[in-house]
Amino acid sequence: CGVFGIWGHDKAAELTYYGLHSMQHRGQEGAGIVVSDGKELTAHKGLGLVNDVFKKAKFEELAGRNAVGHVRYTTQGGKVIENVQPLLFRTQTGSMALAHNGNIMNAHQLRGELEDEGSILQTSSDTEVLAHLIRRGGQRTNETSISTALNQVVGAYAYLILKEDRMYAALDPAGIRPLSIGKLGDAYVVASETCAFDQIGATFEREVLPGELVTISDDGIEIRRFAPRGGRKLCAMEYVYLSRPDSDLNHVNVHASRKQMGVELAKEAPVDADMVIGVPDSSISAAIGYAEESGLPYEMGILKNRYVGRTFIQPSQELREQGVKMKLSPVRGIVEGKRIVMIDDSIVRGTTSKRIVKMLKQAGAKEVHVRIASPSIQHPCYYGIDMSTRKELIAANNSPEEICEIIGADSIAYLSERGLEQAIVKDKTINQGVCMACMTGRYPVMENGETEINYTK
Ligand code: 5GP
Ligand code: SF4
Ligand code: MG
Repeated sequence: CGVFGIWGHDKAAELTYYGLHSMQHRGQEGAGIVVSDGKELTAHKGLGLVNDVFKKAKFEELAGRNAVGHVRYTTQGGKVIENVQPLLFRTQTGSMALAHNGNIMNAHQLRGELEDEGSILQTSSDTEVLAHLIRRGGQRTNETSISTALNQVVGAYAYLILKEDRMYAALDPAGIRPLSIGKLGDAYVVASETCAFDQIGATFEREVLPGELVTISDDGIEIRRFAPRGGRKLCAMEYVYLSRPDSDLNHVNVHASRKQMGVELAKEAPVDADMVIGVPDSSISAAIGYAEESGLPYEMGILKNRYVGRTFIQPSQELREQGVKMKLSPVRGIVEGKRIVMIDDSIVRGTTSKRIVKMLKQAGAKEVHVRIASPSIQHPCYYGIDMSTRKELIAANNSPEEICEIIGADSIAYLSERGLEQAIVKDKTINQGVCMACMTGRYPVMENGETEINYTK
């Protein structure tokens, strides 16, 4: 998912729309905006792409200088309109809108506790749980009640909360999800990815750091922490696949890190071949890096139909497979008779690699050597990326040799854990660690609240 917020701009809703549009790759199932005019909150949301959801929106009815928005892809809760965010809650003492990227591991337990106390939740999304925790015991929405609530949830989260007169932004104590603060004139902007700042002409100010709660109002910005300062464990898959190449995460550009993954991969797993090709779009950067390091030409061996959306972010395997067929085609004139290094950023279920090796061979490729610019993914993610069951992960049940055979490649190799870390972590002095749990099985945060994070005062 992607979140966006802006405080103090006449065109808050429009700018939120542009911000969300630039983060469309983070979720395509639903989108929404809630604005505050200082007195009231107003929402517009729907299922589908940002463009479609806001085609019919009357922006003059979304008046107000403050807004939060969300693009959704489902990891928890169904694909129904009630779950489209921001969620809006109205009470006699004021309203609150909530937008969330991540996953709450103890949501089920908290939901049970809340229900025992008499709360009735409207949605199946874990985000609603936080709203109830904030208001538990009749509390108002403020820094204290939000901090208390955040200390009860365990997991990965970037939250934006909008009230009539304030906006809050919070990041989980391990900083697993990305969240940055920018400025546009006097207005404050908060977004999952910095590409949203570039889109609207805002400048990057700083990252929200692990365990921080940011309050933004007409009085300015205030940053406090609700959890001790700890080392960061930013999701490595943000760099490998999820984020846009023009975004910077933790001061590292995503394209540059992907290119470096390709460089490391070429050092670790060279091939005697004629050319390097990448699976568009997410693997192009790594393929360029591999080509540069190996000295092999980089070629366009696969073409992408740009009118097809992200195939992974589709709710079922059938749709995903159909998606790959429609989306990618081999360039016969380039690959015919050639020995090819095919770079993909990752293998999850194996759908993409299998289809592509097959289509390259059908187009006459002599050899296809698959090189994956991340370690093999063998463990589920509990932090908001859709890889939640082991049985669908091809590497959880098959060795690399078996995978090579299943996908019909001539050879296969993955980037090492060390290679990936080297490509991402540039500056250990700013506590710039990454989560690689889906590859290593070492989870930085456990459901019972235990962490692998070393806190400092
Ligand atoms: P597979 O086809 O093996 O199931 O998935 C791998 C492909 O999906 C890769 O081409 C990659 O670009 C994309 N992908 C890999 N990991 C993820 C992920 O965690 N989330 C999403 N949304 N897409 C992924
Ligand atoms: Fe990202 Fe993998 Fe960690 Fe999930 S387990 S947060 S996908 S690195
Ligand atoms: Mg891909």
